[in-house]
Amino acid sequence: MKFICLLVFLIFISVSLYSQSSPGIYIQLLGIAQDGGYPHAGCMKSCCTAAWNNDSLKRYVVSLALVDSVNNQWWLFEATPDIKYQLEDFHETTNGKFNYLPNGIFLTHAHIGHYTGLMQLGREVMSTKEVPVYVLPRFKTYLETNGPWSQMVTLKNIVLHQLKADSVFSLTDEIKIETFAVPHRDEYSETAGFK
Ligand SMILES: [Zn+2]
Ligand SMILES: [Zn+2]
Repeated sequence: MKFICLLVFLIFISVSLYSQSSPGIYIQLLGIAQDGGYPHAGCMKSCCTAAWNNDSLKRYVVSLALVDSVNNQWWLFEATPDIKYQLEDFHETTNGKFNYLPNGIFLTHAHIGHYTGLMQLGREVMSTKEVPVYVLPRFKTYLETNGPWSQMVTLKNIVLHQLKADSVFSLTDEIKIETFAVPHRDEYSETAGFK
């Protein structure tokens, strides 16, 4: 199942191939690891020992920024448990050219590595104003009906936008997002892929 989470991420990479024809539009990777990040909580085996002892080997959970540098807009794909570092990384590496918060957040599914970072937008931390969050229908209902996410909807920290699987919509004049269903363990939500 970890493999499939990463598979969802690999789908993201295809964005770069499609965007190269539009000047100023690119993606920036903000993380590459499975839901638990790297090193993994509680792992004392050889796979993680080096990363526990060396910060430069640590990796954030999978996420990327879709950037339109001509129109100074950007969108975040996945709100991970590492979101506070990833927002700061994006801000620093782009020299503050863009708004600190993205113009929207696309979420693939309700496994912890992919959406729980939303909590940083809530009342206890950034208390954001109406950040658009794009999700498939079942995921939308899940966020609307379970805390702490439902409070963020009520307080309008986020505004949910319902996507439709196997459809395309225009994010801007130059960026189209294709949403499709990905087979995965769908306990709380469907799983979306984006192209
Ligand atoms: Zn998953
Ligand atoms: Zn390990």
